[in-house]
Amino acid sequence: MMAGNTPKPDRETGVNLGFLEEAEPWQLLSAQFPSKVGGKPAWLSQEKLPTSSELECEKCQLPLVFLLQVYAPIVGYERSFHRTLYVFCCKTPACYTRNDSRCFKVYRSQLPRKNDFYSFNPPPDEKPADLGDGRHLLSTGVKLCRRCGCPGQKACSRCHVVTYCSKEHQVIDWKQRHKKECCNEASASSEVLDSFVFPEWELVTEPEDLPVKDEESRSSGSQQVNYTSSDLEERELDSMALHESEDSKVFSKFKKRVATEPHQVLRYCRKGSPLWLSSEHVPSKGEVPKCQCGANRSFEFQIMPQLLNHLKVDQPDESIDWGTLVIYTCTDSCDQGNKYSSEFIWKQDFSEDRVL
Ligand SMILES: [Zn+2]
Ligand SMILES: [Zn+2]
Ligand SMILES: [Zn+2]
Ligand SMILES: [Zn+2]
Repeated sequence: MMAGNTPKPDRETGVNLGFLEEAEPWQLLSAQFPSKVGGKPAWLSQEKLPTSSELECEKCQLPLVFLLQVYAPIVGYERSFHRTLYVFCCKTPACYTRNDSRCFKVYRSQLPRKNDFYSFNPPPDEKPADLGDGRHLLSTGVKLCRRCGCPGQKACSRCHVVTYCSKEHQVIDWKQRHKKECCNEASASSEVLDSFVFPEWELVTEPEDLPVKDEESRSSGSQQVNYTSSDLEERELDSMALHESEDSKVFSKFKKRVATEPHQVLRYCRKGSPLWLSSEHVPSKGEVPKCQCGANRSFEFQIMPQLLNHLKVDQPDESIDWGTLVIYTCTDSCDQGNKYSSEFIWKQDFSEDRVL
């Protein structure tokens, strides 16, 4: 690019937006350090993975499913030369109660450039000759559940070939395919299209640009707030009215900001601020717990409601749902001995009756 003398037409906000793209399966394997949605997790560190009980829904106790991972190294820190954040969620719609994040978990893994698992040099940008069996068994001998790709030490008691994270996943897999395989009617290596995990996509990012005129109109304060006169009549208290208009302002700011790039599924800005969609259920400083190491946690990225359109989760009556999922991580990105460290997630839902 040229260093132009003309003023820039757009203003960079410092936020990176995430979009979904199709990719070849090999491009989403661990060795490519992918950011991705759905499929099975591409584990960064090949050891000290979260245990099955650490990947359980706190509400229904069923195994969580991999939602997405973001490759987010921190420049200038050797310990986080490679760094990936993982988000897992429950597939039980009933667990998705309002503003309740207990059906999610977030883990962070990081490695120095010189490590036991990957080359010191960047991976070649071409399909490797041998993909290996990295999907069911890590190089370190960690066995993975063939259903969800999370650690799975429980082997089928008949053939001892396939392993699972939980009884639940073994039962589903037995009914859908392993019964035939185990009795040698089908080859165990055949990879069937798995409807249990979410559809797989690459997550690509680009900087958010806002048109400058957009900013001018925003500062002029002429915002259209959208509620009906019957809503107004229902108000009984002035304080409620004040609160509602505040909430409307936040919601309309959210809508306007997203409208510039309506397909964004993620907003990334480490140590920046999330884009809230409601003035309700915003965490106070004390509600974001400190990291185990004692450092504060700060905002790193948020998952947008648009992602739901790509997960094939819609059912007629109810489905998994969120307004936005806001992820806070250790400001020091501390090293807990190569362990996958737990981070913090906050779910904010839309106020009643508001939809995008
Ligand atoms: Zn659950
Ligand atoms: Zn599993
Ligand atoms: Zn078997
Ligand atoms: Zn920490």
